[in-house]
Amino acid sequence: MGNNQVGRNFKNNKLIMETKNIKAFGTPAADKSLEQLTIHRREVTAKDIEIEILYCGVCHSDLHTARNDWGGTIYPAVPGHEIVGKITKVGSDVTKFKVGDLAGVGCLVDSCRTCDSCKKDLEQYCLNGFTGTYNGKDKYLGGHTFGGYSEKVVVDEHFVLKVPANLNLAAVAPLLCAGITTWSPLKHWNVKQGSKVAVVGLGGLGHMAIKLAKGLGASVTLFSRSAGKTADAKELGADEVIISTDAEQMKLVKGKFDLIIDTVPYVHDVNPYVGTLNISGTIVLVGYLGGLEPFLNTVPMILGRKSVAGSVIGGIAETQEMLDFCGKHNIVSEIEVIKMQEINNAYERMLKSDVKYRFVIDMASLKN
Ligand SMILES: [Zn+2]
Ligand SMILES: [Zn+2]
Repeated sequence: MGNNQVGRNFKNNKLIMETKNIKAFGTPAADKSLEQLTIHRREVTAKDIEIEILYCGVCHSDLHTARNDWGGTIYPAVPGHEIVGKITKVGSDVTKFKVGDLAGVGCLVDSCRTCDSCKKDLEQYCLNGFTGTYNGKDKYLGGHTFGGYSEKVVVDEHFVLKVPANLNLAAVAPLLCAGITTWSPLKHWNVKQGSKVAVVGLGGLGHMAIKLAKGLGASVTLFSRSAGKTADAKELGADEVIISTDAEQMKLVKGKFDLIIDTVPYVHDVNPYVGTLNISGTIVLVGYLGGLEPFLNTVPMILGRKSVAGSVIGGIAETQEMLDFCGKHNIVSEIEVIKMQEINNAYERMLKSDVKYRFVIDMASLKN
């Protein structure tokens, strides 16, 4: 942790920031389990908010970061970017929040705030790179950022969200990543009453895509590889389920959809879905990073002005809009609450898709 000394942060022997010790859960190396450890958080500066974390959702990115699946993980790694809690301290210049308020923190805790993207409330596309809630570059203390598997987090108020008080707090947590990741494309491609939306994959992202698209008034179809998920999808609000491996069923939806949200996190054939897009329709990939195989055929794209697009999380203003919408429409994630100490087993279960549909850690367990 660079120049960090217990309780104080020094640069060239000059005290630059007071810090405090925080109990957290993380891993010292890619091949190690997560365990309890101590991290440092800065004391609140003028624009900062300190949040006691009550719940933290468990995202696939947490697991991939802990195990260095994407490379670039800095250890010790403390994951967690679906954070909800209660404000315990605010800086002198904080205007949007007060002590005792509920608050949320998602995938980003800072950005340059001056580039074109930041000025347009698109901090997730900050041209200078946003600061991730974990494994990002800590501008205050040096070293890297630590996520929500911890007692408390300190974040500039610009990156803190207001949480609707009428919702189940634990089930709000996954909205901060899974929710906004699917909300942002729904809004960008103008999904509204009567839109025809399809969702590929029924996991943490997919189940939120169904709920949010339905909430916006769209008719919603789930593409699934097997019939086993039909009942669950309909319970979540899907109007129909199309088995993507069944050519006859795929024919039934040829040219149908305005927008397809593809949440599948591994390489897969996108071409069959392009065929189910309406003229000018878009399939947006939100789960998979990398090259497409088999290759993407441009013929149906060109002859139907169809787009294959990508999207990542959402900006702060858009995340607030999504939370307010969820408060109004009573939308939350489907969750299984676990104790912090159960995280390693939860990761193994996630790899087998054995969760409906998001694990959320009850952070009170970290106090034990
Ligand atoms: Zn995430
Ligand atoms: Zn920026």
